[in-house]
Amino acid sequence: MNPIDELARLFAEEGTRDYFGEPVSQAAHMLQAAALAVRDGAPEPLVAAALLHDIGHFHGLVRGADLMRGTDNRHGDTGADWLARWFDDAVCEPVRLHVDAKRYLCAVEPEYYDRLSDASRYTLSVQGGPMTEAEAAAFADGPYADDAVRLRRWDEAAKEPGAGVPPFEWYRPLLERRLLRDGE
Ligand code: FE
Repeated sequence: MNPIDELARLFAEEGTRDYFGEPVSQAAHMLQAAALAVRDGAPEPLVAAALLHDIGHFHGLVRGADLMRGTDNRHGDTGADWLARWFDDAVCEPVRLHVDAKRYLCAVEPEYYDRLSDASRYTLSVQGGPMTEAEAAAFADGPYADDAVRLRRWDEAAKEPGAGVPPFEWYRPLLERRLLRDGE
């Protein structure tokens, strides 16, 4: 199956599930994150990352060996590893790092924690809590840290019930342009 068709199917079928205590479905949440990335003029790989950032939560994705590591607090890795078959690091690495970006922001911006939703505070606690100073410095040094932080801010903002945003298909041409071709 064409990977973009498979993504469209995941959004249509699994994406309607609740998003862990938030007032929007998983699909609505990811579509809102992507719309915020477009609004802010993000480059295409980062728009794709915003659109796909919680794909690791989709149940159809987690099978076989993936299941062993597919616990909620690893969904950045699960999603990024799955996406890496079709997309390059500019798409996959912000997805991988968006969980750590929350731990980073809570360490460097004390007011950031205060703005987190209850569900997001809970998952922060199972994801390891705020980074230490040394962890935050190491994180900020990484090549995709800035992208991951931008993605994280859209992630936190993308929880508005009933927000009118473009559907998955609006992003198909962009995703087609980001697909790795054989030999790349
Ligand atoms: Fe999210």
